[in-house]
Amino acid sequence: MHTRGAVTRSDLVGLTGLNRSTIKGLTADLVAAGLVRESAPIGRGGAGRPSITIEPESDNVYVLALDIGVEHLTAVRIGLGGIVLDRRGLRQSVGDYGVRRTLRRLQRLAGALLAGAGSKAVCVGIGVGVCGVVSTDDGVVRFAPNLGWVDVPLRDLLARSLDTSLRIEVGNDGDLGAIAEHLRGAGKGLSDLAFICGEVGIGGGIILGGRAMRGVGGYAGEIGHMSLNAKGRLCRCGRRGCWETEVGDEAVLLATGAPAGMTLDEVLKAYATGERWVQAGMRRVGRSLGLGVVNLVNIFNPELIVFGGATRHIFAALEPLVRDALAQALVAPGEQVRLELPALGDDAIAIGAAELAFRPLLGDPIGALAGLTAKRSPRT
Ligand SMILES: [Zn+2]
Repeated sequence: MHTRGAVTRSDLVGLTGLNRSTIKGLTADLVAAGLVRESAPIGRGGAGRPSITIEPESDNVYVLALDIGVEHLTAVRIGLGGIVLDRRGLRQSVGDYGVRRTLRRLQRLAGALLAGAGSKAVCVGIGVGVCGVVSTDDGVVRFAPNLGWVDVPLRDLLARSLDTSLRIEVGNDGDLGAIAEHLRGAGKGLSDLAFICGEVGIGGGIILGGRAMRGVGGYAGEIGHMSLNAKGRLCRCGRRGCWETEVGDEAVLLATGAPAGMTLDEVLKAYATGERWVQAGMRRVGRSLGLGVVNLVNIFNPELIVFGGATRHIFAALEPLVRDALAQALVAPGEQVRLELPALGDDAIAIGAAELAFRPLLGDPIGALAGLTAKRSPRT
């Protein structure tokens, strides 16, 4: 129900292989716990008895999802079933990311957001996506070059600043975006895809054989730091010519020589309307974006590459150049890949973070709910 939405009892019988009376008993338990609701059958479609529809209580069972980017902070309430209920966000300017300041801002956003939840609503967990290399076991951000964070114990700091004992899961933004687009977005039903996201930097997540690629320490998928140009610009990771120095929004501003204070949107508009000063720089960015895509295609043979975050706008502007570059990919994997925009828009990372936070509830709904009574919810 969490992934499919409303289902009938007969659907559940078919999906689980359990018999009708067992399903009836189990759904009754979930209804009593306030996790799902049953609705009377509508009409009498076709032959047989109309079946009762069961759907998640999305408004009343939710997680708090936080998305920490270089240029934005977002807090989203996401209901059971992956439904976005409400969000609060703010833009932040480059270089303005002290850990304490970020925590204060998140506390304010989360407080305002949670104050809007109904009195019957229960927060069952907290999920956080951050644009950096994350140790998921302990929620420590090992390295977020574009935030300037090194070994920040984000999980513990958030627990203190939100004054909560709820479980907090922290993940890399690209990994979470990939999980969300795979489960609910452009990659629904596919087994192999790559998700690209980013603003100043470029992050990513890879789904291989239906599962998120982790690597031995959970740090895999840092595609923004593929080394593409040994003579390129210095990257914030300390090396030279990483992909993100050539294709992120900062790279677009630098490559086009945009005047100080000009935004990515304005540069993309200038390109679209044919202003001459942006053309050469934008073509360079388009070729680099294509080059990285070719590498992803050759290494992972994905069926789909999704362009999220700021790359959504950059790809949309430069799509013909990226598709031209794709001709350089090896023939077979190059033929198989589709390039698309995310179906979940800017919410992909928060929705992926919510999936982490929903896991304990999905694994043991009644047990997890019972455990919550001893927990302290975040302050509003
Ligand atoms: Zn780098």
